[in-house]
Amino acid sequence: MSGIGKKSKLSGAQNKKYRLKREEARQKLSENESKESNKIDSDSEKIDFNFKTVNPITTAAEENQDLNPETPSSSSGVFINKEINKIDSEKIDFNDPATWPKQINIKLRDCLIENDPKQLILKDFPKNESGRKFSDNYYYRTLSNGEKICRSYLLYSKTHNSVFCYFCKLMSDNITQLTSGCNDWQHLSHIIKVHETSVGHIKNSSKYSELRMSLKKNCTTDAMQQRLYETEKKYWRLVVERIIYIIQYLSRQCLAFRGSSKNLFQNDNGNFLKLIETIGKFDPIMSEHLHCVQTSEKKNISHYLGDQIQNEIISIISDVIKKKILEMLHSSKYYSIILDTTPDISHTEQFTIVIRFVYHNKSRNVAEIREHFLGFQSVTETTGVGLFEFISNHLKLMNINIFDLRGQSYDNGANMRGRHNGLQQKILEINSRASFNPCAAH
Ligand SMILES: [Zn+2]
Repeated sequence: MSGIGKKSKLSGAQNKKYRLKREEARQKLSENESKESNKIDSDSEKIDFNFKTVNPITTAAEENQDLNPETPSSSSGVFINKEINKIDSEKIDFNDPATWPKQINIKLRDCLIENDPKQLILKDFPKNESGRKFSDNYYYRTLSNGEKICRSYLLYSKTHNSVFCYFCKLMSDNITQLTSGCNDWQHLSHIIKVHETSVGHIKNSSKYSELRMSLKKNCTTDAMQQRLYETEKKYWRLVVERIIYIIQYLSRQCLAFRGSSKNLFQNDNGNFLKLIETIGKFDPIMSEHLHCVQTSEKKNISHYLGDQIQNEIISIISDVIKKKILEMLHSSKYYSIILDTTPDISHTEQFTIVIRFVYHNKSRNVAEIREHFLGFQSVTETTGVGLFEFISNHLKLMNINIFDLRGQSYDNGANMRGRHNGLQQKILEINSRASFNPCAAH
C-alpha cells in the first residue's frame, strides 16, 4: 500500500514529531467529545489531517493498541478500514464509498447504480503532512489531444480522506488500493493511470455498464424472474377461472362431473372433461392449457383438471355459498328446519338439512321466503335422542341459535315425529315455540 512505503522513508526525528502530533490529536479528540458538536466537527478535521498522512493499515494496527476502540469514529470524522466494515446500512452515505459495507449485497449495489454517487468537490481538500492533497482535477483524464474526459468511477471519501474506484468496489471482491481507499496523493496520478488501464478495472467497468443498462431497461435477472412469475400467475388464474365456471355450471344443472375415464380426449370421461375439451376448441387460454397438458403428461405436471381439484373447488364454492346463506339467516333471526334422512349407496345414513326463513332483501326492499339446502351429513345414531344431539351440535357449529327455531318439519318416521322420544319432541322440550309440522318437504 502507498502508506507503507511512505512510512519507511520517515526519519527518526520525523517519527518522533509524528508521534507527538498524534498524541496531541488524541488529547484534542477526548476534549472535544465533551464540547459542542459543531466544535467537535471542526477539531476532528484537524485530527483527520494528522491521521491521514500515514498509511491507514499501519494506523489501524497502531490505533488498536493505543486508542480506545470505543472512540466514535463518526464524531472524529475518522474511518479506518476495520471500522468501515462495521457500518450498518443505516449509516451508509451513497456519496461516500468509505461508508459502504465491505460485502455489498445485490440490493445495495442495484440501489447505488440506480442513484449514481456524486463526485465530491471541495474548495480545500485536507493536506497531508507533506502538504499534498487530493484535487478535483483527478476527476478528469486529459487525452493526448487535450480533450478532457470525466473519470466517473473515481470517488473521493470525505470521511476517509481517500479515493475509491466506484466500479471496482461495486463489481469486484478483490481488494486493491482503489477499492480499500487510496490516500497516496504523491503517486495518485500514476496509481490511477495504472488502475484505469488494468484488465480488472476494464472488466468491472464493462460489468457496471451492462448492469446499469439492464436496470434502466428493468431487465435484470430479478426483474425478469418477477415478470415470469407474474405471467405464470396470470395464466393459472385464467385457467382456474374457467374451471370454476364449468364446475358452477355442472353443479347448477345437477349434472354428473365424472365418467368412467379420467383422461382427456377419451370417450366416457365425463361432463367436466368434455366441457374442458369443448372450451379448448374456441378459447386460446384453455387451448394452450390442453396443449401443455398433452405434451407434458409424462412429466407429471399439475394441470388442475383432476377429480381432487374438482372436489376441492366444489368444497370452496360450497363454503362461500353456505357463508352467504348463514349471513342472510343471521340477519333474519328466526327460521325453521326441514330434515330427512336417507341411506346413500354405501348404506350410510345421510342427514339432509334445509333451513327456511323470511329474508328482508334491502336492495329490492321486499320480504323473500328463502329455503336453502345446507348439505348432507352422515349420521350413525338414528334414534330420536341421537338425531337431536346431532342436529343441536350441528346448528351450534354453524353458529345458528336453536332457540330462534320456530318450525320443524320431518317425515312420519317414529324417530322424527315420535311424541315421546322423537326428534320433534326433544326439540320442543328445550324450545316450545319450534312447532312441528309433518311432511312439509314432501
Ligand atoms: Zn477500478
